[in-house]
Amino acid sequence: APAPFVTAGVTPMMEQYIEIKAANPDSLLFYRMGDFYELFFDDAEKASQALGIVLTKRGKHQGNDIPMCGVPVHAADDYLQKLIAQGFRVAVCEQIEDPAEAKKRGSKSVVRRDVVRLVTPGTITEDKLLAPSESSFLMALGRVKGGAASQAGFALAWIDISTGAFRVAETSAERLLADIFRVDPRELIVAEPVFHDPELRPVFDVLGRVANPQPPSLFDSASATGRIARFFEVATPDSFGTFSRAELSAISGAIAYVEKTQKAERPPLSRPEREEQGSTLFIDPATRANLELLRTLSGSRDGSLFKAIDRTVTGGGARLLADRLMAPLTDPMAIAARLDSVSFFRSETRLCQGLRASLKSVADMPRALSRLALNRGGPRDLGALRAGFEAAGAIAELFAAADLPAELAAALAAIKALPEALARHLSEALDDELPLIKRDGGFVRSGYNAELDEMRALRDESRKVIAGLERSLIEETGIRSLKIRHNNVLGYYIEVTANHHSIMTGSDAAKARFIHRQTMANAMRFTTTELAELESKIANAADRALSIELAAFDRLTAEVVSEAERIRAGADALAALDVSSALALLSESEGWCRPLVDSSLAFEIAGGRHPVVEQALRRSGEGPFVANDCDLSPQGGAKAGAIWLLTGPNMGGKSTFLRQNALIAILAQTGSFVPAQSAHIGVVDRLFSRVGASDDLARGRSTFMVEMVETAAILNQAGERALVILDEIGRGTATFDGLSIAWAAVEYLHEKNRCRAIFATHFHEMTALAGKLPRLHNVTMRVKEWEGDVVFLHEVGKGAADRSYGVQVARLAGLPEAVVARAKEVLHQLEEGEVSGKTNRLVDDLPLFSVAVKREAPKPVKSDALGDALGAINPDEMTPREALEVLYRLKGLA
Ligand code: ADP
Repeated sequence: APAPFVTAGVTPMMEQYIEIKAANPDSLLFYRMGDFYELFFDDAEKASQALGIVLTKRGKHQGNDIPMCGVPVHAADDYLQKLIAQGFRVAVCEQIEDPAEAKKRGSKSVVRRDVVRLVTPGTITEDKLLAPSESSFLMALGRVKGGAASQAGFALAWIDISTGAFRVAETSAERLLADIFRVDPRELIVAEPVFHDPELRPVFDVLGRVANPQPPSLFDSASATGRIARFFEVATPDSFGTFSRAELSAISGAIAYVEKTQKAERPPLSRPEREEQGSTLFIDPATRANLELLRTLSGSRDGSLFKAIDRTVTGGGARLLADRLMAPLTDPMAIAARLDSVSFFRSETRLCQGLRASLKSVADMPRALSRLALNRGGPRDLGALRAGFEAAGAIAELFAAADLPAELAAALAAIKALPEALARHLSEALDDELPLIKRDGGFVRSGYNAELDEMRALRDESRKVIAGLERSLIEETGIRSLKIRHNNVLGYYIEVTANHHSIMTGSDAAKARFIHRQTMANAMRFTTTELAELESKIANAADRALSIELAAFDRLTAEVVSEAERIRAGADALAALDVSSALALLSESEGWCRPLVDSSLAFEIAGGRHPVVEQALRRSGEGPFVANDCDLSPQGGAKAGAIWLLTGPNMGGKSTFLRQNALIAILAQTGSFVPAQSAHIGVVDRLFSRVGASDDLARGRSTFMVEMVETAAILNQAGERALVILDEIGRGTATFDGLSIAWAAVEYLHEKNRCRAIFATHFHEMTALAGKLPRLHNVTMRVKEWEGDVVFLHEVGKGAADRSYGVQVARLAGLPEAVVARAKEVLHQLEEGEVSGKTNRLVDDLPLFSVAVKREAPKPVKSDALGDALGAINPDEMTPREALEVLYRLKGLA
């Protein structure tokens, strides 16, 4: 039942609903009704299914039942989370006036409502909806036309609305997907015409529902400057730097979308910071996925590189580490600066321990700040800032006398610049224990505000106050039976028995003081201005206490928001300290070394390990990880890198070795120590890999096609600074096709790309290339044969594998013994043929053929090539000419 757009003959409430829904067709509309958000029509059907909640009905529309479902407001976050995770967007529609106001307009009037916020995957701020260690980026794509897509200027702007981070970078059609994956946004907004551009179709296909087409007006680069200036309340955005038109368009799109989704509220975004193209290591999407940096191919965090190296203790620290891992640097100086910080904490263990102890109490300051600025904050968000300020104070003291490397010194300066006055105000104002929401008060510390204390005393101790007044009146009048009582008609009153009334009424002074209220049969009732005031105070005390608290909350929030920039800088600094010290601890406990990263073309790793596999082997107790060297440095005066051609049996450890070297390069350029005894790396500008199976099959491309597309990208793009990791190229096609392609690819890498590369292959024939290509070196995964079984040593040694041990591996995998035995026979026979050197294996696909023939005509296997060839002949099916040719061939075998 789609929401109808006909409002004739419906209730006023339904009319309002239909109007609001019409303005928000792409979102589920959460329509506020008292303590519930209700959904109607289509929305109700979708939501009830997505959330597994009951679908009911409410009223009729044009004779039909209106489907309805609802979620309680207090649990709305949980439902929002489920809906967002399933790709829905939600428009939250609140009552925007007091129902009493509506009543004043007439009994049939509906409370005014409006959408106060669109909840979309890229714009959430609630703690419950966010993973503490993951950034949540909203990204906007800007494009300025220049004919074809390949000539257009592209830029990406990305915002983490939950922390205020805002960055922008130029990109190109070729790099687009790689740059998007680097940031890994929750939501990418794109102008509709760009979204529908057939040349870019593949990009948006890959992104699926992350991509969100929006009206082109959001991205208009001509009006962008104005929009940006308005948002940041500056005269012109020039002061932030000079941006290209594509960048302006992307920034404008991001801001416009934030405004569109957040309505009246404005998150405290930092000014857009420009990322220079080339300042980060370019990693193409396939490589990023295959190396499992943040997530494994199956999508889980467990088993990823991040999970294996993360020792941070704050959400901000974890996010910074992930950000850095996704965008390693290319400037050796900048890398060294980060490494200096890690080295510092390696040697200053006492400071490191002290820092970690303080960091543990740091809450998520940037996210608290954003929620406060968006009017979604609560007392605990203020509490988070207080905790952060306190920890920052302790840390500043801890480091006061330390001689810090540049990065840490800058961090310390930002921490010291945190607003002290605000820190003081927060600790003075806030109670130790804080409620989640501000609505009911109870978060301002007693002693902070005299009036509040009085109000609370009145509210909480009204009986005591009254009793106190009663005692003092007894003393004043000498009437021991005087009572202060309360009823609904008079409120509080003083009552004396009739025989005492003369004391209260005897003199003019007494008459002025005790105001007569009521005379009963044997008692008289009075009040005093004091009591009347007390009474109204008591009645108002709770209200007043609450409004004092809320005012304090608003004051503190305003102060926080006005200090947003310094708070964010301080929080970033705490995150940087967390990352450096966490990496120091990691390198200590895992035995990692500081890499030397410079502008050479070296790649010299001694005793390298795969951090994830090593930890997994340790956990499962499957024995130690075997460390391996790798040296791809230019040798003998050459100005180009070496290529290692790695052969060896399946399961020998080839992929592990390939990946570990890529990971070591990434870690080193991230500014981390690396799992090796020593490492010297000339900065890598692009990392390419072709490893493992891609899950592209689901999209209907064959494995081979995917492999070739990825290989083509590498051969077309890799320059001398690239690091290329290729695993089993040519596996997905017929043997000779595959071998030829792999062969040619290695030659091309050696001659044209001239980059550092490791090439793993099961084509032993390729090892012959080492005779022809001077910078190509054969290495192999060592194995030992033991009683016919193969033992993997996981050791990379010089030379070529003499055999592939496929049959032995197959046996380890549990192939039936008969198959293994038969395979051994066939293999033996094939090898005989090879050793005799009489068959040209490069042109003759005979092995598979002859196996097939033998299966048809089983007979005792002869182990000579001549016999085999004879066996394969069927004279009945030959022309005389073919027979003659075979005769010549047989002659050649003899
Ligand atoms: P290949 O690519 O040659 O088929 P893998 O790299 O997948 O082999 O490694 C197979 C298994 O061998 C891995 O799952 C791992 O447990 C183990 N392995 C690999 N390299 C090492 C090593 N250097 N030390 C110890 N075990 C290793």
